[in-house]
Amino acid sequence: TQVDCHQQKFIVQCWASTPYEKLLIIINKVNKNMQKIYLDHSATTPMNEKVLDAMMPYFTSEFGNATSIHTFGQKASLAVQRARENTALFLNCKASEVVFTSGATEANNIAILGLIKALQKNNLGKIHIITSTIEHPAVLECFQLLEKEDDIEVSYLPVNSKGIVSKDEFEKLIKDNTVFVSMMYVNNETGAVQPILDIAKTIKKVKEKRKKEGAKFPLYFHTDAVQAANFFSCDVKDLGVDLMSLSGHKISGPKGVGVLFVKDNIVLEPIQFGGHQEKGLRSGTLNVPGIVGIGEALLFAEDRRKTNSKKVSGLRDMLIEGVTENIPDVVLNGDMDNISPFHANLGFKGIEGESILLDLDFEGIAVSTGSACASGALNPSHVLLAMGIRKEDAHGAIRFTLGSSNTEKEIETVIEKLPKIIKRLRKIAPKN
Ligand SMILES: *Cc1c(COP(=O)(O)O)cnc(C)c1O
Repeated sequence: TQVDCHQQKFIVQCWASTPYEKLLIIINKVNKNMQKIYLDHSATTPMNEKVLDAMMPYFTSEFGNATSIHTFGQKASLAVQRARENTALFLNCKASEVVFTSGATEANNIAILGLIKALQKNNLGKIHIITSTIEHPAVLECFQLLEKEDDIEVSYLPVNSKGIVSKDEFEKLIKDNTVFVSMMYVNNETGAVQPILDIAKTIKKVKEKRKKEGAKFPLYFHTDAVQAANFFSCDVKDLGVDLMSLSGHKISGPKGVGVLFVKDNIVLEPIQFGGHQEKGLRSGTLNVPGIVGIGEALLFAEDRRKTNSKKVSGLRDMLIEGVTENIPDVVLNGDMDNISPFHANLGFKGIEGESILLDLDFEGIAVSTGSACASGALNPSHVLLAMGIRKEDAHGAIRFTLGSSNTEKEIETVIEKLPKIIKRLRKIAPKN
């Protein structure tokens, strides 16, 4: 299993061109007796069994379409209503303010494109919108699309070397015609917690001033809270947000379902057309099992925040300490005092994160890199680059994200295996 960089890339290429049946046999053989340590909870989480139990009937006996009028439909509709109420409880909002979507990607798209489309109908003239440089692509690419329109100006709020936006810098960006701000709550790559409360306060101040002056421009605030929902309060009233996106599979729920909180009286234009479900904002037959699942998963969130947060951050600290003590030239990409309990983004100087990832995978340890492998070219993470990290250093980043089912023994195993892997990779790395 000891292979170098080029061999690894070759393996990955072979992997991609092997027929599915053969791959399945290989994967099962390799993994049969191997330990499995999952440290990629930012990518997705294993589903809570109680969540699965709650979902099961809605695949089979209770299969009705939630918009059908007969009893089959009514049963499904009731389950959706219950999930909506659970979600509203979690967000501290009204059930009528909850829109179920196919995930956070769709929630972000509806929030951003839907709001701007609605605002453009009001003949406001040129409008200005703000986001940060470290957003998830589901936000960033919406802004990049809007930026191409003549009547829209976009500002990207930079972050400091710890990956955090500054409230003061934000305040400086606001103009008379700023109508929309989208700022993520917790970054998915570094776990950096953003000053959402401060941003909301600034927005409130601007709104009050505009009201006094009778200014025509409204101002709305959206946050992508996907990575925050596990361990942080997502009370929309406390936070002072108008729109918020959540995803089922990042919080021990199912994939393919998400939530968009839309504050009462905020008008969004649909960006998808059809059966007018979800107040016309998300046409398409409701994913009843998925919706039941996310509603159930959110019920456990409060519990998780109170009981698991300490456990997970304890394991995470143990990992950071163990790795930095046993391996030279490692840096934490982020600020220890300002990251979510389950993230640790570590930069290993002089080597490629992909090689580390593959070597760890051979040992049954699943992590992720900050890079996106687009069309064969390895692009360093836009988040790490935004933090001012050099391109070559950004390539050496590994994201460890922990969950409540991880154990001390698993972390010990990682601390034991990793130094050997890094040592070997550094030995064969081309010196530049
Ligand atoms: C995973 C993730 C998304 C996308 O969520 P999906 O439900 O998979 O579409 C959006 N934003 C952040 C911060 C994420 O981590």
